Amino acid sequence: MTKNDTFITVFPQMRVVVMGLGRFGGGVGVSRWLSQQGCRVVVTDMEPASNLAESMAQLTGTGCEFALGGHDAALLQQADLLVVNPAVDKNKSEFVQTALRRSVPITTEINLFVQRCCAPIVGITGSVGKSTTTAMICQALTACLAATPPRRCWMGGNIGHSLLTELPNISAKDIVVLELSSFMLEDTPAIGWSPHVAVVTNVVPNHLDRHGTFADYAAVKKNILRFQTPADIAILNGDDATARTWLPHAPGRSRVYCLAGSEKLKLLVPGDHNQSNAQAALAVVEVLGFSDQRPAAVAALMRFSGLPHRLQLVHTQVVRSGHAVRWYNDSKATTPAATLTALQAFPEKSFICIVGGYDKHLDLAELAAVLARRSAGVLGIGATGPKIIDLAAQTNLLPKNRLVYTQTLSAAVQQARLWITSPDPAFADIKNVVLSPGCASYDQFPNYEKRGEIFTALAQQQGP
Ligand code: ADP
Repeated sequence: MTKNDTFITVFPQMRVVVMGLGRFGGGVGVSRWLSQQGCRVVVTDMEPASNLAESMAQLTGTGCEFALGGHDAALLQQADLLVVNPAVDKNKSEFVQTALRRSVPITTEINLFVQRCCAPIVGITGSVGKSTTTAMICQALTACLAATPPRRCWMGGNIGHSLLTELPNISAKDIVVLELSSFMLEDTPAIGWSPHVAVVTNVVPNHLDRHGTFADYAAVKKNILRFQTPADIAILNGDDATARTWLPHAPGRSRVYCLAGSEKLKLLVPGDHNQSNAQAALAVVEVLGFSDQRPAAVAALMRFSGLPHRLQLVHTQVVRSGHAVRWYNDSKATTPAATLTALQAFPEKSFICIVGGYDKHLDLAELAAVLARRSAGVLGIGATGPKIIDLAAQTNLLPKNRLVYTQTLSAAVQQARLWITSPDPAFADIKNVVLSPGCASYDQFPNYEKRGEIFTALAQQQGP
């Protein structure tokens, strides 16, 4: 089968079912684009309308119809096309299986987009660091393209909104940067597609509930380079045990990036993991022929302050002459493992950490021990706050008065403020205050985004 055999034509009056609208609007872009093409669109979702109000509001006036609170197989009787949200496990979905039995063509938003996009595409995948690396690449390329207006860089895929409706504005001279999740890469083989530049940050076990074994999961990730041609380029993280083994399998040119031997950049975002993400971005800059723009790309990366809620620098507070404290929002760290990564990003005893939240009954002992060893003070909040403070106290690595259960986030911020402005020499070396809860937010907040927004507002509100 050639690539062209798989091209799905979209035409006026075509009857399309979009499966999966999503609370955060994952199906909005494709539904709007299909209706702009004159299609008769029905959007179906397991959730009832009451949970989808925000997403539905974004489709007001488009003519899209809704069939919510479940997936009724009757919708498939007249369907010419089914567009499936990447979050749907197609093997387990009776609705998708029915569509397959009835030979209804099936596609995805990302497949519709990449088959119509005239600009070269840089695709990024990995188990962690996808969004950050995608945003860094876009920021670096935007700086490179500034020298040749009106060329520009577009960012989409698993980050941000669908680029389908932007198709008329995207020129062949632009560059498109797409974050590609493993769920998206499950579907790209159906159209025999891989991006012109494929970036792999790392491959460690994740989503095994859906993919089965690690080998199956890694194979799906590897689809990012499977259909590359000799004209394409793979950029692999040489520090990752799995990604680096793919080097001989890249059909085109390949480039490996490593931390060792790389220039350490003065980034606003802390940690070796972010240095590694920046190296990936510089590799993309180079393979796309912008080596002469490297200084502009480096400057852009140095301005990158992080994506919302991922070790994002949200405030710098000058506490006295010559001493500033940085406030970081890492609300997306909803597991102990994520917080452990964050804790490695700061020098020992240079930070206060705010932890705790909804109790998922995960083991918190390692988190508490590392907190006690590395941080200068720990402030516990939410349901797991007392447990983390107790476990940290048992290690005897921090004085008891530096381990405080404040219960609320605002009280934690207040206490952090007292510590960093205190004349006590014990607090003189604190340079960072980090919200990295290691727990979900549901006990005190609707979601991790809201928790991060409230923290950001509190951090910025007080102090200079
Ligand atoms: P993803 O999009 O893959 O979920 P993000 O860019 O949103 O990843 O980052 C989520 C968290 O993963 C960050 O807060 C950070 O703690 C960690 N992280 C980011 N980049 C890396 C990396 N290259 N290696 C390991 N951990 C990383």
